[in-house]
Amino acid sequence: MEIKIEDLKILFSEEQLQNRIKELANDMNKFYNGEEVVAVCVLKGAVMFAIDLVKHLDMPLQMEFIRLSSYGSSTTTSGKVNAVDIKLPDLNGKNVLIIEDIVDTGLTAKFLLDFMHCNFNAKSIKFCSLLDKKVTRKVDVEPDYYGFEVDNKFVVGYGLDYDGYYRNLRYIGYKEV
Ligand code: 5GP
Repeated sequence: MEIKIEDLKILFSEEQLQNRIKELANDMNKFYNGEEVVAVCVLKGAVMFAIDLVKHLDMPLQMEFIRLSSYGSSTTTSGKVNAVDIKLPDLNGKNVLIIEDIVDTGLTAKFLLDFMHCNFNAKSIKFCSLLDKKVTRKVDVEPDYYGFEVDNKFVVGYGLDYDGYYRNLRYIGYKEV
């Protein structure tokens, strides 16, 4: 599949994204109740979402960035998660909030949650994803927070790429087939 900008249909507008992000942040502010949080942003896809989300979080917060890859230049997952860079500080006793762009098969979420549980005795580990493709799940994992559910379409924009492009779009779009 090739994706051209003129083929893109808007799935979630900038306004819809920003409104939902504020709602998610409100829920998190209530849950953490002022306790310190370490937000772990999964690069590259979650970068826009993480940056906008943390602006609405009101607790003391640190940001970490890790990099994983599973897609390469295709529109279907390779089924294998590569930890390109997963260096993290000591997260023992911390409230860890993992911020991801989309949960598809669930392999990445499962990999990350297992990694956190195996390596740290965190106070809490929560998984937040902007999008949730529940219909394509292959492993039993659910995000604690998600912005929108999407059906089985390949989406781009607002951090999500096709072959490295379209991350800069302010909306989430898809190609109608
Ligand atoms: P999973 O491990 O859950 O199958 O996939 C997670 C990763 O696959 C996401 O972090 C994202 O990078 C990529 N991904 C899954 N679905 C889509 C999609 O519709 N569009 C884009 N651009 N990436 C996707």
